[in-house]
Amino acid sequence: MDIIVCIKQVPDTTDVKIDPETGTLVREGVPSIVNPDDKHAVEEALRLRELHGGTVTALTMGPPQAEVALREVYAMGVDHTVLLCDRAFAGADTWATANSISLGIKKIGKYDIIFCGREAIDGDTAQIGPQLAESLGIPQVTYVRDVKKEGEKLIVERALEDSHVKLEVGFPVLLTAIKDLNEPRYPRMGRIVKAHRELKTQVWTAEDLGADPSMIGLNGSPTQVKRTFAPEPKGTVEMLEADGAQALASLLVDKLKEKNVVRRSVS
Ligand SMILES: Cc1cc2nc3c(=O)[nH]c(=O)nc-3n(C[C@H](O)[C@H](O)[C@H](O)COP(=O)(O)OP(=O)(O)OC[C@H]3O[C@@H](n4cnc5c(N)ncnc54)[C@H](O)[C@@H]3O)c2cc1C
Repeated sequence: MDIIVCIKQVPDTTDVKIDPETGTLVREGVPSIVNPDDKHAVEEALRLRELHGGTVTALTMGPPQAEVALREVYAMGVDHTVLLCDRAFAGADTWATANSISLGIKKIGKYDIIFCGREAIDGDTAQIGPQLAESLGIPQVTYVRDVKKEGEKLIVERALEDSHVKLEVGFPVLLTAIKDLNEPRYPRMGRIVKAHRELKTQVWTAEDLGADPSMIGLNGSPTQVKRTFAPEPKGTVEMLEADGAQALASLLVDKLKEKNVVRRSVS
């Protein structure tokens, strides 16, 4: 079974700060990591390969330093790594990003499963997986919390808010991983050394992919950012202090009653 996992390098924080002057993300002093959901996708791909054979290829679109993220998942056990890197990809919205990634996937060629994370912790849209499946014309299952291969099909559990559905899907298929799927493994020392000494990532430009410039990057993006800003905080904050947890809880309840948020005393 051949599996492609799409991974994104993201800032190691959910506390994203915007530069008020430029309206861009403040990245200085914020280390980068592999997007957390994507590590679950990688783990599941490796688990399926160990059970059923095949290959796992990790693909990312990003600046040259995104190769560090590829080294990290290579150290986990991925077989091949691909970086889509070109200024022509820059400024892409999710639609143009999915177009570029789908061209990379088509260039890789052979796949049975494409894994994405459900959502990236910086962009937060959860759109790339579904858009990629549409762009490739293949079925998709999002919010995947369990995968089993049975013959020539997969039995996939898709998480719902308070339950789940079990689906049977054929190949090829795109799956988006959530954290309930598995516990990502720690890389072994030997593999970390190999990732730094031996890994040769394939780097593909827009030209290598035969990309139409009107479908990628800023030019290919149907949405454009007019302005980014941090909203002004609304209301005021009142710090409550009291002697002990019980007294503090009573004080909080009184305050909530005052504002008609609760009507009866909570015992
Ligand atoms: C109008 C607009 C303009 C933008 N301009 C810029 C810009 O100038 N520069 C910039 O850096 N970003 C820009 N972005 C953000 C960029 O489009 C998104 O970061 C990107 O499309 C991924 O979306 P997301 O972060 O919401 O990922 P999600 O859809 O939440 O990610 C889901 C999954 O998709 C996969 N995935 C996501 N991104 C990648 C990737 N790059 N490579 C491989 N797999 C991936 C991962 O598996 C991830 O877990 C812009 C977005 C918009 C809407």
